[in-house]
Amino acid sequence: MIPVGEKEIRGSFVNCSKGEARRINLPRSLPETPWADLDFLGWLDPGAPDRGYLVTERRGELVGVTLRLSREVHRSYAKSTVCSICVTPHAGTGISLFVAPRAGAAGRQGNTVGTYMCADLACSLYVRDIRKTELGVRFETLGNEERIMRVVVNLESFLDKVFDGDLSSGAA
Ligand SMILES: [Zn+2]
Repeated sequence: MIPVGEKEIRGSFVNCSKGEARRINLPRSLPETPWADLDFLGWLDPGAPDRGYLVTERRGELVGVTLRLSREVHRSYAKSTVCSICVTPHAGTGISLFVAPRAGAAGRQGNTVGTYMCADLACSLYVRDIRKTELGVRFETLGNEERIMRVVVNLESFLDKVFDGDLSSGAA
């Protein structure tokens, strides 16, 4: 992705208030972000481990989504061991169920979308073989280009769900 700064990141969030977006803890290593290797910037809140964020480009615009770790799944072992975004298999706690409030009115009414994802939100690095899972092996022969395409497609469909029913965005 194209490198973006703090101001753009804070301004990109679509499913929280402007005040919340101002208070979000950004990744500590933001200046060292390997932008060229990222399909989306994902990080866990350094001050609140049950919160995560992802920021990516959607239809030419920067879109940020706040996520919460679902406690029910976090407490026990995740049932799913494959990330819904990058399809990387993980052992036990390597996958978390993240829940995102929907954008707009639906989200304000408490409507959410859940997705199983790599617990460190580093999908981009796994599909490029930059980061290895705790399992240490890959289970498929698909090339990196195809795996990256799959992240983009799956992320797009997750974002579609976040925006679902919100007529104020995406229509233009
Ligand atoms: Zn993943």
